[in-house]
Amino acid sequence: MNPTDLPADVVQAATTEDLLSAVRAIAQGPLAQRAQAIDEGAYPEDLLKQLAAVGAMGAHIDRPGQPGNYMATIAAMAEAGKVCGATAFMMWCQSVCALYMDASSNPALKGERLSAHLSGAGIGGTGLSNPMKSFAQIESFLLKATPTEGGYLVNGTLPWVSNLAGNHYFGAIASVVGEAGKEVMFILKCDAPGVTLKGCPKFSGMEGTGTYAVQCKDLFIGVADPARPYIRNIRAAFVMLQCGIAAGIIQGAIDSMWAVEDQLGHVNQFLDDRPDQLQAELDDLLGRVAELAKTPYDSSNEFFIDVLNVRIDGGELCMRAANSALMHQGARGYLMSSDVQRRVREAQFVAIVTPAIKHLRKEVAALCAEDMPA
Ligand SMILES: Cc1cc2nc3c(=O)[nH]c(=O)nc-3n(C[C@H](O)[C@H](O)[C@H](O)COP(=O)(O)OP(=O)(O)OC[C@H]3O[C@@H](n4cnc5c(N)ncnc54)[C@H](O)[C@@H]3O)c2cc1C
Repeated sequence: MNPTDLPADVVQAATTEDLLSAVRAIAQGPLAQRAQAIDEGAYPEDLLKQLAAVGAMGAHIDRPGQPGNYMATIAAMAEAGKVCGATAFMMWCQSVCALYMDASSNPALKGERLSAHLSGAGIGGTGLSNPMKSFAQIESFLLKATPTEGGYLVNGTLPWVSNLAGNHYFGAIASVVGEAGKEVMFILKCDAPGVTLKGCPKFSGMEGTGTYAVQCKDLFIGVADPARPYIRNIRAAFVMLQCGIAAGIIQGAIDSMWAVEDQLGHVNQFLDDRPDQLQAELDDLLGRVAELAKTPYDSSNEFFIDVLNVRIDGGELCMRAANSALMHQGARGYLMSSDVQRRVREAQFVAIVTPAIKHLRKEVAALCAEDMPA
């Protein structure tokens, strides 16, 4: 992609520092005002577009003369996640969709289309929970692709895909009927003929994430990538990027503990998981992420195990920090309007979104067994 394809404000946010200060302005301003409404179901498409326009969901993608910087995308996600975990999750959806487009061999997904996505003119997500669980033998493929002239007809329903609206799109994988072990990956457009978005049951959190069940009835796919080699190349980057959501929620929880320290420190000192201890653990975690973020496309098992472990630690620290913040804040944190109780539900989501902690541990066990000498 040519850097001149990008809108001026994306080019302006050329350094990580510029990017983070632009994201901070949105996060501490309009996002902070709307975090509760988002939790209750208001999908913030305009804010996501603003975040994309300053380059928050595209810094990890290589551009001529400007190599991708995974840590910048992760830090931007964390900056928003301090204020609203749901928004950090939608930023991950958009960032990971950019990764799919960039890694695809389909030229139609690159150039102008990728440029539009990075600038926020296009909004996308990922429907890879089911395929990831299928590759890990946790469940079977829900989308089936039947070969037809010039492509495939896709049928099936994905129960929940986020960051969607009428003209949005997302990365999907379907197993090929009649060809065991073959799957294809493609970008599924929500307004394509044969696609229906259906509302989901009410969740306990993350309600404003534009999450729908996606039903496909004879959806025609012309160009698709073979999924397995593709997934091997991007799997570590996919999982690593999620650390940005965890880091934001953890930092938000720590900040809310310090906010009551003057008033309640005399009694809070008797609690476990104090803010200084959690901060040290978060800094250590981010140090590990920063190291891994230098080689996001390393496809070795050894590297992937390190990424899975840092993601497990991030998910677990997220739940500990959010719970501890509730203990530190007491009744004020238990108010329905409090960001502290909202963060507990956001942290639980980090633990169950694919790859869930149980799935991550299963993968680590399987990869360690594979690498063990016979
Ligand atoms: C708010 C929200 C947003 C999400 N966004 C996305 C997204 O953008 N993209 C994406 O690919 N996935 C998305 N997911 C799915 C998510 O990543 C996980 O796959 C999901 O939370 C379940 O993961 P699990 O590993 O805990 O599986 P489990 O819950 O252990 O599921 C195991 C099996 O039980 C089935 N199951 C679970 N709940 C029910 C139910 N209520 N009724 C019937 N069967 C059920 C599952 O389909 C699966 O086959 C989202 C989930 C939520 C709650």
